Amino acid sequence: MQHRVIVLGAGYTGAIAAGRLAKRLHREDVAITLVNAEPDFVERVRMHQLAVGQDLKPRPFSEMFAGTGVELKLAEVTGVDVDRRTVAVIDGNGAEELEYDTLVYALGSGWNAQGVPGTAKYAHEIASRPGALRLRERLGRLEAGQTVTVVGGGLTGLEAAAEIAEARPDLDVALAARGDLGDWLSPKGRGHLRKVFDKLGITVHEHADVTGVEADRVTTADRKAIPAAVTVWTTGFAVHPIAKATALEVTGPGQIVVDGTMRSVSHPDVYAVGDAAYAMGPGDKPLRMSCASGTPAAWQAADAIAARLTGGKLPNMPIRYFQQCISLGRREGVIQYVTADDRAVRAALTGQLAAVYKELICKGAAWGVANPTLGMPTRRRRVARERATAGSAVKTLA
Ligand SMILES: Cc1cc2nc3c(=O)[nH]c(=O)nc-3n(C[C@H](O)[C@H](O)[C@H](O)COP(=O)(O)OP(=O)(O)OC[C@H]3O[C@@H](n4cnc5c(N)ncnc54)[C@H](O)[C@@H]3O)c2cc1C
Repeated sequence: MQHRVIVLGAGYTGAIAAGRLAKRLHREDVAITLVNAEPDFVERVRMHQLAVGQDLKPRPFSEMFAGTGVELKLAEVTGVDVDRRTVAVIDGNGAEELEYDTLVYALGSGWNAQGVPGTAKYAHEIASRPGALRLRERLGRLEAGQTVTVVGGGLTGLEAAAEIAEARPDLDVALAARGDLGDWLSPKGRGHLRKVFDKLGITVHEHADVTGVEADRVTTADRKAIPAAVTVWTTGFAVHPIAKATALEVTGPGQIVVDGTMRSVSHPDVYAVGDAAYAMGPGDKPLRMSCASGTPAAWQAADAIAARLTGGKLPNMPIRYFQQCISLGRREGVIQYVTADDRAVRAALTGQLAAVYKELICKGAAWGVANPTLGMPTRRRRVARERATAGSAVKTLA
């Protein structure tokens, strides 16, 4: 009997984990199923580009996973039972239950409206492809001089505001940030950001705590109204409620608590990666929701599963940060170099070179999904008779 690995979610981290497992384990011994709701890979880091009308390269999974041995199941995950080791899915043929021996949970995240009144009704989001497409359609209908307000001064908000202002110089674009613009960046990064925002004509509302969204404005805690024919909400991501409804140990918001090998601290047959996982990084700080840490986490999970199944050495690669790459439209950017635990250092790359660098990073991230061992030679190992966790069907070594 084959060992059944099911990977839920084929975003950056799930797709990498599935592909890497397929490169590490012998096909006769393991069946790897990747469950995803959509048939093609979504480059989430480019959703602001999609929203302003740019067309992204199609990346069908049928091509990306051709010949890898990974079986793609196009279905929506509706639940996970970690005690019975089953996953409930639904597709065009109806509901079904899939059984696993090892589960990799990588369902990512969506936007986080944070319960602010009016967001669900009026605000747009760019955390998902449907959201970005909806905003694209709405922006297309705006006339010159109309207002777009981006709420959230984090990485996504900065990128969204700059992209919209560059693509639509006829619109009146504003950004509402809780603190000072780019206040976590180095003086060089911050200075450049402000220069680009000025050049793009973006109005910045600092120390603006947005407490309501209406059809034509957002309102702040100090009772200011900022005009907004369109509001784009980018105040962080929220994980899907599926993990929270299981017996897994999760955090308050629903991230699965994992150890250094990305294995659930409560259920050893379950691994979690990417935005769905709560893992500690350098400086005892939880890893932030990002490809920057999600990608090495996916490598770590795949290598740990392979090691445990084959009796190999567990990976012990510390996950650290190197940089924050911020696109400011297609012609400008800031690459902020950071400490291992993600704090800005003095050095930053700015200008057109930074825009080119960021573009290479995005292309590299998509390439890394299709090449999960980064082109390094691999050997598919046989699954060992005994494995670290109990109760699973394991192929006996010949
Ligand atoms: C506009 C934008 C810009 C960003 N820029 C950067 C950046 O520059 N650098 C960086 O490091 N990070 C960036 N991020 C964050 C980064 O995109 C996420 O952290 C990353 O995508 C998380 O990867 P993931 O695999 O956990 O989830 P995702 O990439 O979101 O993948 C989750 C997958 O699960 C699928 N799925 C979800 N629910 C279900 C279900 N119920 N059934 C079946 N399938 C399901 C989805 O369709 C998707 O394929 C950006 C995010 C956004 C929105």
